Amino acid sequence: MTTIMTTIMTTISYELFPTQTEEGAQKLHIQAALLAESQPEFFSVTYGAGGSMHNRTRETLLALQQTTDLAIVPHLTCVCDSRESIRLSLKEYQSLGVKRIIALRGDRPSGMGTFSNSDFLYASELVSFIRNETGDDFHIEVAAYPEVHPQAVSINTDLENLRRKVDAGANSAITQYFFNPDSFFYFMDRVQALGLDIPVVPGIMPITNYTRLANFSDMCGAELPRWLRRQLESYGDDRNSIRQFGEEVISKMCEKLVAAGVPSLHFYTLNQAAPSLAIVKNIGLFNPPD
Ligand SMILES: Cc1cc2nc3c(=O)[nH]c(=O)nc-3n(C[C@H](O)[C@H](O)[C@H](O)COP(=O)(O)OP(=O)(O)OC[C@H]3O[C@@H](n4cnc5c(N)ncnc54)[C@H](O)[C@@H]3O)c2cc1C
Repeated sequence: MTTIMTTIMTTISYELFPTQTEEGAQKLHIQAALLAESQPEFFSVTYGAGGSMHNRTRETLLALQQTTDLAIVPHLTCVCDSRESIRLSLKEYQSLGVKRIIALRGDRPSGMGTFSNSDFLYASELVSFIRNETGDDFHIEVAAYPEVHPQAVSINTDLENLRRKVDAGANSAITQYFFNPDSFFYFMDRVQALGLDIPVVPGIMPITNYTRLANFSDMCGAELPRWLRRQLESYGDDRNSIRQFGEEVISKMCEKLVAAGVPSLHFYTLNQAAPSLAIVKNIGLFNPPD
């Protein structure tokens, strides 16, 4: 039986992604303001591979810092960046008062070849680099994969990789999303058996669009269970039913995770407040201001 951790209150956090247009940026701020009402621990801002994307992460972070007092946490991927550019990013984030970073390998855009000519091959190397450059200035989050990263040689080597990231200085981990809580509980048993004493936060993907979810899940190695897939398929274009059913399924899963004592839930919002907020309300974690 899994004992994850005893916590007083499960916290929440939300992932946002930088937008491409001014109109998108305005919409993002409306969604962020709605999400902020639930008093999350932080907003994270994703990072796309390639130099220009770094500017978007930074611009989004800066804009959010101006509109909310909540902590803004940049994602930082290393596979397309040099040591020097990562060093500059770290300095910039220090000067902007950033206290937490989500450190990732990232994926090369198709057509950009292999990783062999990168300064960094794996996220563990990025974590080491951040620690060497900045000491304890940042709380470093890394990615974890209850259902195994799609490129992992084996389930064991993938877990060993998490250990490498922790040994390199990671403070905590956020998981890839999953729809089978048992995969998370089994993962946590193995994390504990390895003696890895870090908080592991489940990543939660609200269900709003079946086709997009199916495509993305195939790519990132998250299993869409057959019963869930067939039920979602049966709704066809009926978005309301997909959303209603998705909300119910994910709320029940989150309830189980909270009951098992997870320290926090991290929502992949896809820049839409309503689906995540509905789940947060259903499971009693919405904390409106006094
Ligand atoms: C919470 C979260 C946030 C994310 N945010 C972003 C984002 O903002 N931008 C983005 O582009 N992507 C993001 N991703 C996706 C992530 O970049 C991809 O999943 C990527 O393929 C792996 O990144 P990683 O940090 O897990 O890599 P790593 O930990 O380096 O692992 C990558 C693969 O290499 C294997 N491996 C690691 N070390 C070794 C070794 N020494 N020898 C052999 N194999 C090894 C691992 O088992 C795994 O299969 C996110 C994922 C998560 C879970």
